[in-house]
Amino acid sequence: MSAALPLPSPEMRDHALDACFLGPYGENDTLLEKLMVEFLRDHVYWRRNFHPEDPPAIATACAQHPDYLAFEARMRRELHQLSAALKKSVPFHSPRYIGHMASDLLLPGLAAQILTLPYNPNNVSEDAAPVTVDLEVQVGLQLARMLGYPHDPTQPACAFGHLASGGSLANYQALRLALALKAFPVALRAAQVPDLALPADDWGAFNLAAADVIVLLERWQAWLAAQSPEQRAHWHARVEAERIEQRGLAGFFAAHPTLRVPLVLAPVTAHYSWSKGLKLLGLGRDQLHLLPTHGMRLDPAALRDTLERCARERQPVLMCVAVLGSTEYGTIDPIDAVLAARKDARRQGLDFSVHVDAAWGGYLATLFRNEDGSLRPRAEVAGEYVRFPTAAVHAAFAALGDTDSATVDPHKLGYLPYGAGAFVCRDHRAMTLLAERADYVFHGNIPRDYLARYRSLGQFVPEGSKSGAAAAAVYVTHKVLPLDHRHFGRLPRATVRAAEAFHACAQRFAIDIADRLHVLVPFAPDSNLVCLALNPCGNTRVAGANAYVRALHDTLRIDPGQPLQLKEFFGSVTSLRPQMLGPADTARILAALGLDPHSLGTNDDGDDDRLMILRHTLMNPYLIDHENGISYIERYFEFLARRVRVLATAAGAGIGST
Ligand SMILES: *Cc1c(COP(=O)(O)O)cnc(C)c1O
Repeated sequence: MSAALPLPSPEMRDHALDACFLGPYGENDTLLEKLMVEFLRDHVYWRRNFHPEDPPAIATACAQHPDYLAFEARMRRELHQLSAALKKSVPFHSPRYIGHMASDLLLPGLAAQILTLPYNPNNVSEDAAPVTVDLEVQVGLQLARMLGYPHDPTQPACAFGHLASGGSLANYQALRLALALKAFPVALRAAQVPDLALPADDWGAFNLAAADVIVLLERWQAWLAAQSPEQRAHWHARVEAERIEQRGLAGFFAAHPTLRVPLVLAPVTAHYSWSKGLKLLGLGRDQLHLLPTHGMRLDPAALRDTLERCARERQPVLMCVAVLGSTEYGTIDPIDAVLAARKDARRQGLDFSVHVDAAWGGYLATLFRNEDGSLRPRAEVAGEYVRFPTAAVHAAFAALGDTDSATVDPHKLGYLPYGAGAFVCRDHRAMTLLAERADYVFHGNIPRDYLARYRSLGQFVPEGSKSGAAAAAVYVTHKVLPLDHRHFGRLPRATVRAAEAFHACAQRFAIDIADRLHVLVPFAPDSNLVCLALNPCGNTRVAGANAYVRALHDTLRIDPGQPLQLKEFFGSVTSLRPQMLGPADTARILAALGLDPHSLGTNDDGDDDRLMILRHTLMNPYLIDHENGISYIERYFEFLARRVRVLATAAGAGIGST
């Protein structure tokens, strides 16, 4: 590359981030080691102080016994083998890793998780996790605040959130809750509960707004509590018998022939967990209706058309999913426009939940939050970046608080170990409908204390036994780095800036290499994920461009047969399919790359029905190393330029496939 771009000024270095991670070089090794030793000792003291009068069950001399020594030897041997094998792992911690959605781990979370592991709490209930189950409920409130949901547990309409193994499971939980909310008023009608002012027909009952279902639910609970014990048991059993959770989809819809199985609307960019979720719930993939996008962002006009058709044809809609940071392109859907479309659909009698799949982008919300929880105006946020946030992106984040539920992955942009996704719903009272045991019958009413209620977490979540250590990790991280722009937000800020630097470098690269290669950033990045479309000059066929990108990617992906050190950079690939892109964007991108549109999708057995592109996740906080004046982003483009020359030579020698 010619003249290098100037590095962002050293004043932009954020020293608050210096102690956050173990670091690319393991710079903070003594810090982590001190913490580990300190808390391991602490744990041992705890064991010893439980009943100090109980003598040691394993005598010191046992450590000399041949069987003990043999066991230790076997254990060491296996651990050494494991440790050796793990050296082939993907170096997520390195600023040379810009592939998938993974990076280094935040020290507070890593330390909290390791610290908690030997206590082994099971967050299924307080009986097995007297400490960490509360931490998990607190995490739900922390995330609710970040999203703009009500988060004061003394208020009746407070949000609720819990952890799950990941974003996929959190998405299934969202489907489960939306279905329960939709079907419950229909069950009340079928059971002919008196005095509740129920909707006049099944269609109306199936299209109540979530807030109205909650009002109805509370009325029903109060009515039930006022009955005699016999009447209470009778009516409870009657309603339960009509619920979709009891009857199953087949029984429920057979009993309500005017209702059809509802659709789930999601943009074509939606994660494949939605397809899995519809299969899992038995709704079937046929009910997943994928909406077209503009520039990989949900197209609100198409949503409105679909909603109008649904209202006209009396086709119920369970939920509309808006993606906050698509997995493949990092694009952000217009959540505000989705909410506006729902408002209009309501006038036509059609209602549904709006769920935000923010598994990837959820933590970006910290960029928009003040310490007091208020929203930062766009102009103020924009002062810290070149282009971010666009008006559309700011409006999407500003609208989060009005959605019904969200998925956020602490194990993605929360920089925490795997096994930590989160589901958050705006009004916790809906969760009653998911309870495995209808506790209000036995207590006459729901426990009023919010925390006490959710200590039996297993009642509400899809899983049974679950990690309390993961909850501790998320909680401690959010305490050390509160979820506002002055604390946690420093981290995504560094990554969005890195993405802007990457975008600028890509544009410069495109100019520098224009005589050899067409280079295009197909969509201006909404946040910290940037894609690159490439095609060697002279090639007009999609198949040729794809072969080229695959050849480039071969040098960018993990190869277990090769020493890791031979890898200069790690990147990932994704594809652009015309069905997803729409005709206008497809034409624009192909033209910019000098590709013939007729070469698309002509080959049934190949992959030329789509365009392969490079995908870069800029999550590492050290992509711009102020200490040594190194930009790994510039180095990456220098590396690409070298690869382009090598591939050109290979093609010249007849090896290439263009
Ligand atoms: C990663 C991701 C998921 C799935 O989350 P897992 O934690 O991998 O289960 C869902 N939706 C989006 C948008 C994602 O990026």
